[in-house]
Amino acid sequence: MVITGTTKILGVIGNPIGHSLSPIIHNAAIEHLGLDYRYLAFPVAPANLAAALDGFAAIGLVGCSVTIPHKQAIIPLLAEITPLAQAVGAVNTVWNTPTGWNGTNTDVAGFVSPLAAMQRDWGNTTVAILGNGGAARAVVAGCHQLGCGEIHVIGRDAPKLAEFKSSWANIQLSIANSDLPTQVTIQTHLWTDLPNVVGKDNLLLINSTPIGMSPQVANSPIEAEIMARIGADSIAYDLIYTPRPTKFIQLAKEAGLITIDGTEMLVQQGAVAFELWLQQSPPVDIMRQTLIEHLTNTH
Ligand code: NAP
Repeated sequence: MVITGTTKILGVIGNPIGHSLSPIIHNAAIEHLGLDYRYLAFPVAPANLAAALDGFAAIGLVGCSVTIPHKQAIIPLLAEITPLAQAVGAVNTVWNTPTGWNGTNTDVAGFVSPLAAMQRDWGNTTVAILGNGGAARAVVAGCHQLGCGEIHVIGRDAPKLAEFKSSWANIQLSIANSDLPTQVTIQTHLWTDLPNVVGKDNLLLINSTPIGMSPQVANSPIEAEIMARIGADSIAYDLIYTPRPTKFIQLAKEAGLITIDGTEMLVQQGAVAFELWLQQSPPVDIMRQTLIEHLTNTH
């Protein structure tokens, strides 16, 4: 497609940003729909974040994705953020308005998407989230939205876990089939307590740590012995998308669990952002297929 004087710009800001797969996904969608847009990766150092946003507004950039290390730091620079982004404490998508930049968090919808497509009794599902970092916050919000019965978060650092727990103390979010927000309730545990948590029936076990991510592909946050104790109708969900499959997913498959990897979350969070920026339905199948082809050819 030809770049002309009318071509509009979307993008992603992060530092580093060269590894981002978002340009692959979004440009495939743009090309498929024949839109006069391009999606570019912009390396923005933390000290330049405010200047970058001012510059982007000055040149009429339509919107951008936001990744590490800017997801929290960008919040005070925005004119408005959604209650969901406020609850999660992170913004991964911004768009330009006449009154300034607005932001939201599409990781929650991306995370929920493959789960919402399943017929499950989420109220009877116990969630075990491994890790208490940024992605775990979107996962907690997503599991609450689904209406999951109990949400357990497992971490290695007691003070960080306590801080994580208290950050949800006054957070209310809507759950499935209801517009009424309800209190987000979680329980936190150190890893030593993991065998007790995973022993529950109907488990949704989520890896939100980087353990097992390329190049450390031989590692898994959970050993085969613990995986074997999990009920067979349970789900193992790894947020990691390289390698495919991760060791965690391999062990879960061997234990007979239903498995989900991080590719669908990546595609769906991008699809929600695309729709926000361009006000039209994204070609999700094209985005998914392009991502999977790229991952297959390069990893
Ligand atoms: P983060 O903010 O750095 O959090 C990582 C968490 O994992 C922290 O709680 C950290 O514990 C814990 N952790 C790290 N190494 C550990 C180890 N060896 N043992 C035990 N715990 C460990 O990272 P994030 O942004 O949440 O991302 C987490 C993972 O999710 C990454 O692999 C990322 O690629 C993936 N992700 C995928 C998507 C997607 O679209 N599929 C989106 C977002 C993130 P401490 O806090 O104690 O250090």
